[in-house]
Formats: sequence, C-alpha cells, structure tokens
Amino acid sequence: MPKKLVLHFPPHLIDQPITYRLIKDFGLVVNILRARITPREWGRMVVELTEDGGRWQDAMDFLAEAGVGVEPLAREVLRHEERCIHCTACVAPCPTKALDVPDRYLMEVAFDQDRCIACEICQKVCPYQAMEILFD
Ligand code: SF4
Ligand code: SF4
Repeated sequence: MPKKLVLHFPPHLIDQPITYRLIKDFGLVVNILRARITPREWGRMVVELTEDGGRWQDAMDFLAEAGVGVEPLAREVLRHEERCIHCTACVAPCPTKALDVPDRYLMEVAFDQDRCIACEICQKVCPYQAMEILFD
C-alpha cells in the first residue's frame, strides 16, 4: 500500500537528489504529489511512497540521517471549486495566506495547497461549504 508522507527538507538539502536516492538506492516507488521548494528556506514535499520490494526501513533511516523530517500526511484540505463564489470570507482568517487574492482587479480567491497547514479555520468560516478537510 502506498503511504502519503510529508518530507521537510532543511535549506542545505534543497538541491540534493534525495527522492532520486529513494528510488535508485532503496527501490521505492516515489510519486511527488506536491512540492514547495525555495532556495535557502525549508522545503516541503508531499509524496506517496510505495515499498514495492524496496528497502523501506533503510530508506527511512537514510532520510533521518540526512536530516529530512518525515511525518504522515494526516489531513488534507480540498476546495470544491464549483461551490466557491470567491466571497473572500476565508482570506483574512487563513494564517498562512494559503487562501489569498493575488489579483485585486479580478478579486478571485486562489488556494495554494502547499501553503496550507490544515488548521481548519477556512472550513469553519466558509458559508458555502467549499472547503473540506480530509482525514486519513
Ligand atoms: S469563504 Fe468559501 S466561498 Fe468564500 S472565497 Fe473562501 S472558499 Fe470561496
Ligand atoms: S486549512 Fe488553514 S491554512 Fe489551510 S487554507 Fe484553510 S485556513 Fe488556510
């Protein structure tokens, strides 16, 4: 069974071929679902890893020794685009600017899933049930 994990990369590992090593050296199947990588900052990558005959524990040990943080993806936030009317009620309460209005002329609310920390605030404030929190 594939496992969804969140990998946290310290700044000095951003340009290292970590996922390549998981495939090549440890035989895992890696499906990158989302990645937020910025030079000189911590990176965050949501991956789906499948053991598929590979060496899972060795791969996890490798990540730990390299300094990559690993945690299960416990919650995921989805926006139902067809329900969102871009009322902007969720923008100010969102603590990470995952919900934002990038263009004040268009006044459309953009959802950047990579910035989202699944705090659930938007789900509570959205009058149209456009935001949904999924649990494992
Ligand atoms: S509060 Fe709901 S309907 Fe309004 S912009 Fe946010 S997601 Fe869309
Ligand atoms: S769950 Fe929290 S961080 Fe994610 S979009 Fe909603 S308010 Fe923003």
